[in-house]
Amino acid sequence: MARVLFINGGSEGHINPTIRVVKELISRGEEVVYFCIEAFRERIEKMGATVRTFDDQKFIKAFISGGRNYLLERINGLLLTADIVIPSVLEQIEGEHFDYIIHDSMFGCGRLIAQILKLPAINSCTTFAQTEASVEKILEQFYDEVPSEIVRLIQDKYQSLTELVKAKYDVDIKSPFELYCNPAPLTIVYTTREFQPEAGTFDLSYKFVGPSISARITHESFDYTAIKENSPIYISLGTVFNQAVDFYKLCFEAFENTDYTIVMSVGDRVQISDLGDIPRNFIVQNYVPQTDVLQYAKLFITHGGMNSAHEGLYYGIPLIVLPQSADQPIIAEQVARTGAGITLQMQFITADQLREAADHVLSRASFKKAAISMKDSLRASGGYQQAVDEIFNFKSDFKKGWNS
Ligand code: UDP
Repeated sequence: MARVLFINGGSEGHINPTIRVVKELISRGEEVVYFCIEAFRERIEKMGATVRTFDDQKFIKAFISGGRNYLLERINGLLLTADIVIPSVLEQIEGEHFDYIIHDSMFGCGRLIAQILKLPAINSCTTFAQTEASVEKILEQFYDEVPSEIVRLIQDKYQSLTELVKAKYDVDIKSPFELYCNPAPLTIVYTTREFQPEAGTFDLSYKFVGPSISARITHESFDYTAIKENSPIYISLGTVFNQAVDFYKLCFEAFENTDYTIVMSVGDRVQISDLGDIPRNFIVQNYVPQTDVLQYAKLFITHGGMNSAHEGLYYGIPLIVLPQSADQPIIAEQVARTGAGITLQMQFITADQLREAADHVLSRASFKKAAISMKDSLRASGGYQQAVDEIFNFKSDFKKGWNS
């Protein structure tokens, strides 16, 4: 048995794919101590792990204070979370022994904590993997296209924050890529090589294990009667970029006079009463048990978060992707490339166009066929079991290294 330190951040998208991995690690004899925000305690504890938390409000405030417009600002935001996460983690594990660390690829300062604790590290990547070259390319574009006085301010902040973190925690930081992607000797990527853009550029330390989709652990209230009789269209913009009252009203207009049954998740920052009258064929909730609802759905209108795209395709459902931010435009492109859906721009769409798009995707067998083919490939990929096989191979390799 080994003791595993799992470091994650505070969003569904980064937590959900790790849930079954934790359960599988524990069922194969590992002991897992998992750091995240309080909101996810129940899900992770139910898997048998010990949960410890850090202050989510301070964490989000620090991250956002770095700025949201450019990649280097987001990296500054990640640097700003170091003082929230690192002292808290170190204090809560003081005097304990761990054999290896698994850290999120983006949140939680994982690579820095691995260095401080001198632990063998595994990177848990819930988005598409990125190479150093691809991150550098985004930064080059930023240097070329953004006014130089803005670039200078952001770069100066990056330099000073990096120096501070290096000095305070005695860690090495060589590039923005290291902070943004937390590279490690083993990276578990929760997608398939088929779905990953430019998959050929990743060496064998990247293991594409496919999505790790779990049965729901929490039981949100949902009445399945209507959708069992009439396969619904499911609409969700995920849990982050979801404050979109106008879009939800546009969905009402698009589908209220149709025969479709619509399930729509509007997120917990929208008051359902602000949406006005709910059409009779709509079921609107702040949060729905998505992976359960998707099993009945015939079409998923999604923002194209990595988890949502995987979950839709895992059940063989064609997608209409309306990317909002982050990696979603790339995910939308990949969905279109596989033929399992189409992508639309949310800013410009009208109610008529959305309804016509839904009619189009539902009436062409090719979308369903491609979605089924993605379903087969995602299900054949191994998921959480493969992830834990890879972790155990890595574990035995570094044990051999120590003994030789
Ligand atoms: N989710 C859910 N119910 C909802 C909205 C979202 O269960 O009403 C889950 C969904 O199944 C997915 C995650 O939240 O696992 C959202 O992750 P994703 O990567 O799609 O998007 P993000 O929220 O990170 O933008």
